[in-house]
Amino acid sequence: MTKPNELTIAEAASLLRARELSVRELWDACAEASRAGNSELNAFLEIFDADDAAIARAQERIDTEGPAAPLLCGIPLAMKDNILIEGKIASAASKMLGNYRATYDATVVKKLKQAGALFLGRTNMDEFAMGSSTEHSAYGATRNPHDTRRVPGGSSGGSAVAVAAHFALAALGSDTGGSIRQPAAHTGIVGLKPTYGAVSRSGLIAMGSSLDQIGPLAKTVGDARALSEAISGRDPLDATTIPDSLYPVRPPKEHMRIGVPRRLLGEGVDTDMRAAFDAALEGLVEAGHTLIDIELPMSAYALAAYYVIMPAEVSTNLARLDGIRYGLPERGETLLDDYLLSRTNGFGEETRRRILLGTFVLSSGYIDAYYRKADAARGVLRREYGDAFAKADVIAFPTTPSPAFALGEKNDPLSMYLEDIFTVTANLTGMPALSVPMGTVKREGKKLPVGMHLTAPHQAENVLFALGAAVEKARGR
Ligand code: GLN
Repeated sequence: MTKPNELTIAEAASLLRARELSVRELWDACAEASRAGNSELNAFLEIFDADDAAIARAQERIDTEGPAAPLLCGIPLAMKDNILIEGKIASAASKMLGNYRATYDATVVKKLKQAGALFLGRTNMDEFAMGSSTEHSAYGATRNPHDTRRVPGGSSGGSAVAVAAHFALAALGSDTGGSIRQPAAHTGIVGLKPTYGAVSRSGLIAMGSSLDQIGPLAKTVGDARALSEAISGRDPLDATTIPDSLYPVRPPKEHMRIGVPRRLLGEGVDTDMRAAFDAALEGLVEAGHTLIDIELPMSAYALAAYYVIMPAEVSTNLARLDGIRYGLPERGETLLDDYLLSRTNGFGEETRRRILLGTFVLSSGYIDAYYRKADAARGVLRREYGDAFAKADVIAFPTTPSPAFALGEKNDPLSMYLEDIFTVTANLTGMPALSVPMGTVKREGKKLPVGMHLTAPHQAENVLFALGAAVEKARGR
């Protein structure tokens, strides 16, 4: 029999309701697997003790409400370390916030608690969610369970590994430029970046506020959907959240037109990645979907625009971490010394690099040349995608140019930034995007998972779930 921690949410929920599994057994299986496997993989920064009262409440609810109990009731989940859980440390994997204890629940956490979900621990990440590998953590790198010499991707690498290694049934991460989708692709699971504003950011430690979204990492598209529905919705605590149908409703069609920007894939995608992508597309064609050639010429500028806008927002969001209002309280001779010491000792190198870059692009001499141009590019990209969606229901490409890379391989920042080439556009435009496993490629004798990236118009998550499920089905999952 499958071990309880290896189940999907849907499978566990039905066993819980059939009384073939108890909430306590499920919790214990996940906690044991986490404790046994975490020293090798470093997915969790902290594994929480069992909350006996919450476990008992979840069990009672399933016993009394049966099938009417929320699907997530009694399900152990992992939380990225930048999502606040009242009373727990939330460090964003930074020394700066190493002792910071959340004084309130993030809205997503509140919603999950109401649904009866359980929290297994907080997961490792790149410091303040800046990175594509989960190597830039103040608490050591996370390793990929498919090959422990390799990174899991980032910045939600800890959350992705917690799911891929069967520690937690699913997890939440955050995505500013790809941080849910890219580690999902590198670890062989499903990751969704919701439409901007679909999920409240209240209680998420901010990176780039116009780009950030919290979203699910899960073993199946169905599980990702269940989690996404549980955490979505307008929130008075986040003025950027949107009503359920702000954008036109687009029910998924049985046969979809899949737009493929061949020219965009021309450079930089590994040959075997492209073969895996073509094979997965072939499966969709056999299932009755059609492929359409599209052009996205402006997408070539997306990465450059992202690496101007994101650091600009980082530099302002992280200004509050000065050792006085928040963060490592270092003390020198003067107030300026206090700031300098706190920020120099509290932040890691990549974080400091981005604060400097952001301060530069916002400075009065350069704001027109850099920040305003990049901001204008967002509108252009939105229009370009809007035009493409007149012809195609979904746009597909690989989530990453290559599979998971070795720890230490990308130690110059620019080569790390290039990892985000396919994922940043969805954040710049606010569109939802899903990464779903599309096969494996071989590196140094190991099979490494790779992901297909699907983008749909604003609030058309349903279209992504439908086509994502078709990709799973074509691969026999
Ligand atoms: N890898 C991207 C970056 O380093 C995206 C990070 C994220 O989505 N949080 O900025």
